[in-house]
Amino acid sequence: MDQGGSPQSNTSSNQVAAQQIGVAPIPTTAPIPSPQPIIRPTIATPANVPTTPNVAPGPKSPALLENPLSRPPIPHAPSADSAADEHPTLSSATDDLSILTAESGQPAATSQIDARIKTILTQKSHMSEQDLHRAEHFALTHRITLLDYAVSQNLISKDDLGQALAQSFGIGYADLEKYQPTKQQIGRIPPEIGQQCRAFVFREDKQSVIVATDRPSDPALVPQLQSVIPGKTVTLAYAMPDDIEPLLVYYRKPLVTRFTQIISQQQRVAPEIIDEIIKDAIAYKVSDIHIEPEETVVVIRFRIDGLLQEAGQLPKQYYDNILNRLKVQAHMRIDEHGSSQDGAIRYVVDEQPVDIRISIVPTLDGEKVALRLLAEYSRNLSFKNLGLNVLDLKIINDQAHRPFGMIITTGPTGSGKTTTLYALLKILNKPDINVTTIEDPVEYKIFGVNQIQVNARTDLTFSQGLRTIVRQDPDIILVGEIRDTETAKLAVNAALTGHLLLSTFHANDAATAIPRLIDMGVEPFLLASTLNVVIAQRLVRTIHDACRGSYEVSLDELKFKLPAAEHYFKTPKVTLYYGRGCEACNFTGFKGRTAIYELLNITPAIKELILHNPSTEQIWQLARREGARSLFEDGLDKVQTGRTTLEELLRVAEPK
Ligand SMILES: [Zn+2]
Repeated sequence: MDQGGSPQSNTSSNQVAAQQIGVAPIPTTAPIPSPQPIIRPTIATPANVPTTPNVAPGPKSPALLENPLSRPPIPHAPSADSAADEHPTLSSATDDLSILTAESGQPAATSQIDARIKTILTQKSHMSEQDLHRAEHFALTHRITLLDYAVSQNLISKDDLGQALAQSFGIGYADLEKYQPTKQQIGRIPPEIGQQCRAFVFREDKQSVIVATDRPSDPALVPQLQSVIPGKTVTLAYAMPDDIEPLLVYYRKPLVTRFTQIISQQQRVAPEIIDEIIKDAIAYKVSDIHIEPEETVVVIRFRIDGLLQEAGQLPKQYYDNILNRLKVQAHMRIDEHGSSQDGAIRYVVDEQPVDIRISIVPTLDGEKVALRLLAEYSRNLSFKNLGLNVLDLKIINDQAHRPFGMIITTGPTGSGKTTTLYALLKILNKPDINVTTIEDPVEYKIFGVNQIQVNARTDLTFSQGLRTIVRQDPDIILVGEIRDTETAKLAVNAALTGHLLLSTFHANDAATAIPRLIDMGVEPFLLASTLNVVIAQRLVRTIHDACRGSYEVSLDELKFKLPAAEHYFKTPKVTLYYGRGCEACNFTGFKGRTAIYELLNITPAIKELILHNPSTEQIWQLARREGARSLFEDGLDKVQTGRTTLEELLRVAEPK
């Protein structure tokens, strides 16, 4: 249930993975090492790989569990007093399989992968032949692989996917999300090589080393790794790109160190510095980069998980060149220094394009640059991973599958409300359904969805766009935001005439949305008959799994932070959690974010109330009686299960 900390497999990386398949023969020069507990018995052993006679197929033999390597340590593992053992999300290493041995020595073609995906879909995801057929047709007509379709629709688990891909390479699967390499293991491969090969030591014993990588088809990989790990046999295992990516930061030196190197070489200083900044930003899943000139230095700050952090500094003498280069790339005027300018850059990092919106404003110390990264990681969410509790999940799911009505998410800017709608769209987007959106901006392409961009210059506003969309006979419409009377009325009308309409609305809590929409001129009886559910949300940072700790606090102490503590906690002592801070989380103790929610399900009783032009309080009181929980209460659940800290919750939500 993580948003940023443990990203789900995303479409682009799967595409990468899928493209790699069948590129080159896998190096199988190195034999698979002696049997280890984590290696699942092979199905069909290729001729050039020694068999593993004492590993019997079927259930794991007890002897295997005794090997210490079967329980690889989690890096920076919390100490004994922490919640590590009780906490459900901190899955302690089990004897569960992490490596599936080779099925064949040859790489599979995409069609073979699709064949495996089909098997998984029918056998594990229980998809009917008919649904499978429709999915294949959809994939074909949208020119995507069945794999991409399955992933986007959450039809396949990450584990199954990883194993299917590993099998197609003819090697084992390393679940790097579950079994992260230790500091010592990371140190086994020199940083430059590790970064270049996207490789981490996964297992090691006296004779052999298993290295996990997401690029196993590169024939140079094994010789290169063998040269830096002499005396042992190197074998590759496949790891998902999404698991490799966050670990690569371990191989990166601090920005300032690299700036110094670049400057000392005195060649192409500006482009290289920009390159390093953007690569770092992507590695740390940054949403915004701020480049701020001060009197003598330029400060680079990153927004990570919603908060700004300093990433590095530069001597100011290089700033003009950097600024000019950015302006040229964004097609801005380089001779303009006195007014603000906006532009866009498409940057390619590791063959992946990243769209960046750039804004430059003059300040006293020079022109300040803000870059917004429209990277996929910012929208890379599945519905199940939003952080919704089971009951809320069911309500939203039920309401979203009604043929018409309105689903509205509310919250301030940056509360993830659009992300929730995107995740909903992903599950609603089916081959036989037409989904059209009007957005500002279109930040993330969803295949099979017609996405329209608001354009002020051509008068294509939300309301204008919505008018046009309705004529195009869609089933589901997403309107980026309802912010004026005209859009509000059009949205209600669209919902009334048989469309499912999703939108965001600026309101502090769920109940407030109703009187505000009525104030905007929407007739109460129309609102009552169209509104399905209003979702209020906020984002909280999640405690870094690898460095989570816990402490006990008495109810009296707790009252300093939370005066109504007794109302929420029924025991004299309360266990709370925090992040100790480690390298992997930049010593913040947090990694990734999750949302907290407040749901206003429009039940028949609430519909009836809406007709009488109710106040926010009246709506919320009734919703309460019908079982609604506040943002704060939902957040407290996440505090008590160690997902986030009490301080973090209090930062974004008030007790209600
Ligand atoms: Zn940490």
